Amino acid sequence: MLKSRFFGIFLCHTISLLPTFAGMIEDKNTPRTSLAELGEFGLIDHLSKHFEIIHESTIRGIGDDAAVLDFKDKKCVLTTDLLIEGVHFDLSYVPLKHLGYKAVMVNLSDVYAMNATATQITVSIAVSNRFPLEALEELYAGIQTAAKIYKIDVVGGDTTSSTTGLMISVTAVGYANGDDLVYRDGAKENDLLVVSGDLGAAYLGLQILEREKQVYKANPNSQPDLDQYSYLIERQLKPEARKDIVELLKALEVKPTSMIDISDGLSSEVIHLCTKSEVGVHLYEEKIPLDPVVISTCEEFKLNSTTVALSGGEDYELLFTIKQEDFPKIKANPNLTVIGHITDKKSGMGLITRANEKIQLTAQGWNPIKE
Ligand code: ADP
Ligand code: MG
Repeated sequence: MLKSRFFGIFLCHTISLLPTFAGMIEDKNTPRTSLAELGEFGLIDHLSKHFEIIHESTIRGIGDDAAVLDFKDKKCVLTTDLLIEGVHFDLSYVPLKHLGYKAVMVNLSDVYAMNATATQITVSIAVSNRFPLEALEELYAGIQTAAKIYKIDVVGGDTTSSTTGLMISVTAVGYANGDDLVYRDGAKENDLLVVSGDLGAAYLGLQILEREKQVYKANPNSQPDLDQYSYLIERQLKPEARKDIVELLKALEVKPTSMIDISDGLSSEVIHLCTKSEVGVHLYEEKIPLDPVVISTCEEFKLNSTTVALSGGEDYELLFTIKQEDFPKIKANPNLTVIGHITDKKSGMGLITRANEKIQLTAQGWNPIKE
C-alpha cells in the first residue's frame, strides 16, 4: 500500500498504478535491494539485460567500449538532454517509470523536430545509495516501454554514483536523407506557421501536481480527486514525442520549411524559428489550439490561457512552417492547426490578439507566469 503518499493513491485513479520513489521508500512492503549488493557491473547487467536490438543500423550495442552504428548513405542526427532531480523533476510526485519514459521522449522529440527517424539511445544515470535497485528497475521499465513503442535500440550509457540527487541523461541518435532534414532557419516570408496537437496542458499539469503536494504537506490524510485533471497530469508526467506527425507529413508529401519542438513554450520557439530564419511572424491568438480542460482549468487558476500556451512549455508538440501551396494537404487534419504566417523581418514578431491588436512576442520562458 502506498497510502502514506497521496500521489501513490491518486495515480491509481487517474493514470495508472505507478509507485513514486517517495511512496516506495515509505512503503514497508516494497522490497529494497541495496545497489552496493550488486556492484556497478551487476547493476549495468541487471538493468540492460532486457533490451533487444531491432535496427540493422545497430552493429554493436551494450557490452563493448562503444556502440557501433552504420547509417550507410544517410545523415546521422544526434541530440542529448540532461535531467536533474529538484530542477527538472520532483520525486515526491513523479513516478519513476514515467520519469524514464519522459527522459526518452524529450530526446526523441528533438530528433523528430529535424524530420528524422530516431533509432538508438544511450542512457546515463547518476544515483546515490538512497535509491534501491527496485527504484532503478521502475526507471528502466519506463525507458524500456518508450524504446519498445518508439522502436528504439538502447545501445549504451554510463552508470555512476551521485552524492545527492538522481541525474539522468539520454542521448538519441537518428537518421534522415540529407534532403529530408528540416532546420530552424528555413522559414520564408508568406509561409504558414503550423502547430501539432494542443498547448498549455503540461504546464497546468505541473501546477496541479505542485498544488496537491502543498495540500498533502498540510494534511497527509487528504484524498484528492484529480480525475478531472487527468489529461493535464498525463501531459506533464507522460508526454509523447510526435513521431506520428513526422510520418503524417511524409505521407502527405509536405516537407516543412523549418521546424522546432515545443519544449520551452510556443512564444520562445516561434522566436527561435523567426530569429534563425531572419523573418517576422503574425501569430493569431484565436487560432492557438487549447483543450477544453486547459480553458476550464485556466479559469479556475485565474490564469490567462493564451499566456499559458505561449509560455507554459513541455508540450513536446512540433511547430513548423510550410509553403502556402501545401495548405490544402494539411487543412483537414485535426492534429494540425495553422496559427499564423511568416512576414518580413522588419515587421517584427507579433501576436495578433482577439481584439485585433498587435503585441510584440517575448520569450518569457515559463517563469513569469508562475507568480
Ligand atoms: P566503460 O568503463 O567503458 O565506461 P561501462 O562498464 O560503464 O564501460 O559500460 C559497459 C557497457 O554497458 C557499455 O556498453 C555501456 O555503454 C553500457 N552501460 C553502462 N551503463 C549503462 C546504463 N545505465 N544503461 C545502459 N547501458 C549502460
Ligand atoms: Mg562507463
